[in-house]
Amino acid sequence: MDDRTFDIAVIGAGPAGLAAALYAGRSLVRTVVIEGKAPGGQLLNTELIEDYPGFMSILGHELATQMTEQAARFGAEMVYAPAHRVRVEEDGTKVVETDAGEYRAPAVIITAGGNPRKLGIPGEEEYAGRGVSYCAVCDGAFFKGEHLAVIGGGDAAVEEAIFLTRYASKVTLIHRRDAFRASPILVEEAKKDPKLEMLLCTVVEGIEGTPLDTGDHSGKVTHLRLRNVDTDERSTLDVGGVFVFVGFLPNTGLVDRHVAHDEGGYYLTDPYSMMTSVPGIFAAGDVRSQLTRQITTAVGDATTAALAATKWVEERAKGNPDPFGTFMSASREGGWVG
Ligand code: NAP
Repeated sequence: MDDRTFDIAVIGAGPAGLAAALYAGRSLVRTVVIEGKAPGGQLLNTELIEDYPGFMSILGHELATQMTEQAARFGAEMVYAPAHRVRVEEDGTKVVETDAGEYRAPAVIITAGGNPRKLGIPGEEEYAGRGVSYCAVCDGAFFKGEHLAVIGGGDAAVEEAIFLTRYASKVTLIHRRDAFRASPILVEEAKKDPKLEMLLCTVVEGIEGTPLDTGDHSGKVTHLRLRNVDTDERSTLDVGGVFVFVGFLPNTGLVDRHVAHDEGGYYLTDPYSMMTSVPGIFAAGDVRSQLTRQITTAVGDATTAALAATKWVEERAKGNPDPFGTFMSASREGGWVG
């Protein structure tokens, strides 16, 4: 093996990628983790984590550091370079093309996460970084004493709205329906927060602010244009900033061939092994089709993926061309869609 040929290549060093690296490393297979930014993924955008067993609470960046050190301790090599494409060669070898060159492995675990979904409304792009944000931990402190809006009704929106009350004079949580998708415990906590107000059945139709074309970078969000979806009544809301948490788009465009996915673009994976419809390509974490996307589920699925990928590589080395053929057949017969 040369220094760019591995048994398993893991793409992405969020909690799923680091857990996969830990388990693959402990299985004594040569593992590389390819990460375009800093290790930790979304842990770095999360201030305090209170739902990871074993820690009453831990800072996101602290958990990221510990997971990275733990993966490295068991031998995983880290490469910091964005991956652009995974090429599958005729003999089944996967070639990960990165800014730092190519890395080859028979098995790849994709744990590349995703990016925040945009609203696609007027003003969103224009005022991005000038009052429109997708990360409360990163940007919240810039809005001390201001009235902020948070858009969305899932766990992220409610959790981050609560978080932002520490900086803002007031936070208005705007959701398009009359019921939250977020877990009831979070919604109850939000309801008790005296600085947090909820505006339900309301959509934001536009983000407006001071002029952007003055050339002095002074453009800044000043208000939102709102519409009540029940009454069609239109109004404006004065805010100093708006935080958008309306879901997530998975990074699933890397592989040079069709990988079965659901209607949201998330990879479908075999429940026993986390293998995708492409033999030797496994997936875990936020790229995977599943009910929920928690740190706990990401590391659990990554554990399965790493152990399955290890077994797959070892069986292939013994000459078995389709190691999981037997127990994969059920889901294959069930039919991959996408
Ligand atoms: P999500 O659960 O998919 O929620 C997205 C929210 O945005 C929904 O309320 C949705 O409204 C709303 N939305 C979508 N498109 C919209 C649009 N164009 N205009 C207005 N609203 C729109 O996404 P998430 O909150 O990012 O969470 C993603 C996953 O991460 C979830 O599985 C969640 O449980 C998990 N998560 C967990 C935690 C935690 O437990 N600590 C924290 C953050 C995230 P509808 O409800 O009407 O569809």
